[in-house]
Amino acid sequence: MGYRKPISEMTREEAEAVRRLARRQSYLQAAGKAGLIDPTEAIARIRYLHDGRGVTFREIERVSGVTLRSIHRLYRGGAMSCRYATAVALLGARFEFEGQSWLPRYRVTRRLHALVAAGFSWKYLAERLGTTIDILHRSGTTPGPGKAAASWGAGVLRLYDELERVDPLDVGMSVNSVSRVRSIARRNGFPPRSCWDPDTIDDSEAIPEWTGECGTTEGNHIHRRDNIPMCEPCRRAQAALRAERRAK
Ligand SMILES: [Zn+2]
Repeated sequence: MGYRKPISEMTREEAEAVRRLARRQSYLQAAGKAGLIDPTEAIARIRYLHDGRGVTFREIERVSGVTLRSIHRLYRGGAMSCRYATAVALLGARFEFEGQSWLPRYRVTRRLHALVAAGFSWKYLAERLGTTIDILHRSGTTPGPGKAAASWGAGVLRLYDELERVDPLDVGMSVNSVSRVRSIARRNGFPPRSCWDPDTIDDSEAIPEWTGECGTTEGNHIHRRDNIPMCEPCRRAQAALRAERRAK
């Protein structure tokens, strides 16, 4: 998801920062100190990403190619200098949210619901995303269309991919809390992962497919027969049938 931006695609500020580094580098080369530079800009970049946009250190490592160890060292302020290549990698690494400040909320909410339905707690998800339970919960429970801040919304998309085939018991959650979280999800009608496929989860028109017949009276019947939490399209289909019968 991240890649090194060519200078032609950078904003003026980014391009200027890279050029500043290049100028300093040629000075240092001339002065015989090639390779090591003032770390101020690299540190500012890490702080912006981590503190300002909620990007995890691991994610910064993955996208920039700079090692976790260097990132930590710079972040903690213990570095008097950093490698030129490190600074360029950090300043040039591009994250999905940059250039776009939001994602449609349904893309984020559907994934959060599916993860909770699988048994991952809000607390676990918030920790993994470097955000707060409040923010997640608000996004996960606000109905209707809307926007999610891309800073952490993009993180939800990535985390969903990462956890797609993972059992919450394998990440250290207890049997009790998994079953508690699952029953909360069930009570709230959160569609589980099995209701979605890659073609539907990002399609605003698609509905979660619980029964194979969702949105029809047959779907409504299957929900009740198999004790599957009722979904809104099936509830509406049944209500429409009843209204039709009454009208006759
Ligand atoms: Zn249904």
